[in-house]
Amino acid sequence: MNGWSDPAEWERQRGGADCRVCRSKPDAVAHLEASWVLIGPDDPMRGYVCLVFGRHAIELHDVTEAEGTALMRDIRRVSAAVAAIMEPVKMNYEVHGNTAPHLHVHFFPRYLGDQFEGRPINPRAARRPAYAPGEFERFRERLKVALESSAA
Ligand SMILES: [Zn+2]
Repeated sequence: MNGWSDPAEWERQRGGADCRVCRSKPDAVAHLEASWVLIGPDDPMRGYVCLVFGRHAIELHDVTEAEGTALMRDIRRVSAAVAAIMEPVKMNYEVHGNTAPHLHVHFFPRYLGDQFEGRPINPRAARRPAYAPGEFERFRERLKVALESSAA
């Protein structure tokens, strides 16, 4: 696990050189105004989304006022799309960057009776796969359509 326990590597990552989050851009399911959207079949929850800020920045205070406004529009757009598709009881949002210093937002739809009911998500302890056979592919297609049709 990468992180700040290796100060030289951490500084290299912070500087944006060979940032693995920057390199994830071609894998995006959608490109939004200020960010791109990553999902995968091995994600920790059904309907999980990782929203990545569109340039190498680390903290929320590193983005300009205009970028922050655009990022919030993207966050709201993704949240509404995931909620409409997956019909969770509640959406959870997390911003950490402790292992990858590139600003990104985790979206965790929460469900009645989910593995972490009554407490925060622990992605490392999540049972995988979270999706039933074929379910991820359906989510991916519906999310793509929803994000393409909800352009501001
Ligand atoms: Zn980066």
